[in-house]
Amino acid sequence: MAYNINEKGYYGEFGGAYIPEMLYPNVEELRQNYLKIMAEPSFKTEFDQLLKDYVGRPSPLYYAKRLSEKYNTKIYLKREDLNHTGAHKVNNTIGQILMAQRLGKTRIIAETGAGQHGVATATVCALMGIECIVYMGEIDIARQAPNVARMKMLGAKVVPALSGSKTLKDATNEAIRDWINNPVSTHYIIGSVVGPHPYPDMVARFQAVVSEEIQWQLKEKEGTSKPDYVVACVGGGSNAAGAFYHYLEDTSVKLIAVEAAGKGVHSGESAATSILGKEGIIHGSKTLLMQTNDGQITEPYSISAGLDYPGVGPMHAHLYKSGRAEFIAITDDEAMTAGLELSQLEGIIPAIETSHALAIFDRKKFKPEDLVIVNLSGRGDKDLNNYIEYFKL
Ligand SMILES: *Cc1c(COP(=O)(O)O)cnc(C)c1O
Repeated sequence: MAYNINEKGYYGEFGGAYIPEMLYPNVEELRQNYLKIMAEPSFKTEFDQLLKDYVGRPSPLYYAKRLSEKYNTKIYLKREDLNHTGAHKVNNTIGQILMAQRLGKTRIIAETGAGQHGVATATVCALMGIECIVYMGEIDIARQAPNVARMKMLGAKVVPALSGSKTLKDATNEAIRDWINNPVSTHYIIGSVVGPHPYPDMVARFQAVVSEEIQWQLKEKEGTSKPDYVVACVGGGSNAAGAFYHYLEDTSVKLIAVEAAGKGVHSGESAATSILGKEGIIHGSKTLLMQTNDGQITEPYSISAGLDYPGVGPMHAHLYKSGRAEFIAITDDEAMTAGLELSQLEGIIPAIETSHALAIFDRKKFKPEDLVIVNLSGRGDKDLNNYIEYFKL
């Protein structure tokens, strides 16, 4: 495996589990059991059933005719926006809640920035009747009131993180502190392909259903299971990991990872992690992250809350370093324009994260016969206020 994880928990030189000793038993319990549990027939049956009846999978692979005509190539959209809760994140939280049950856990914790992962976690905890505590920076709680209300309505307890910058990284610290104090009862649901091994691999496997479906859906429509390109936006990297997963080792399928350039890659207000990042350790894994010369993590910026993350998962750090995937950084303005364009050409209002992936068609020329798949990671309802402000709607 040149591009997927190795038996030591590394993608090339990235990954691993750089954690405080007090966290070791929790992570080790998960590491020893996750593959075994995922391979159990009863796990697979329950996971597949919930993805079908609760999430609404398979999500359609939609041929975007008007968008294709405009850019003179064949564009298919993988409709993760049609999932229950409006994005791909629920594929992972369903998988992890089933994992937690089989590990005998009775309490779930999570951290959230914009609130999307908190909502996806609170949703599956309600589904299973399990206690749910979501840590969220005090500033984010004020900024993301609708998602806080959703979590509360779903029965979760939202705990403000009051330290530091009172945002995502502080919420993460609180969640880790909680996990250290409650190792036996509690599972920590991480929302992307980040964190110590085995999280990146476990989350990638839960999201891999996306490319598994793309393979047979494209075969039905085009007579081949292999597209020329798969395109996805990258925050931590989970929707991209899912869309790339079954194509990782097949280099005839080109992979394009789209990051948020914010106000410009070199503007000082950006989240283009792979381009700006240097090797370092964040949330327990060795990866690329944005940092000062003396190693302090720098605040990322993007108009899109879901891409506003200073690191990137170790799989993507390796895809970047090895050249397996092409990385393109898209500015706020380019993304917003692409989001409006998809709305008016196809009648689909995308999440602003996803709009970044769609913006590559103004950057990169494809051949008329190319099959290009864009992972439509989420819907734009949550971003309406941003669109309203930006376009003065
Ligand atoms: C959270 C989110 C992302 C970014 O997270 P990844 O782990 O990189 O996928 C992208 N799109 C949407 C719609 C999201 O909600």
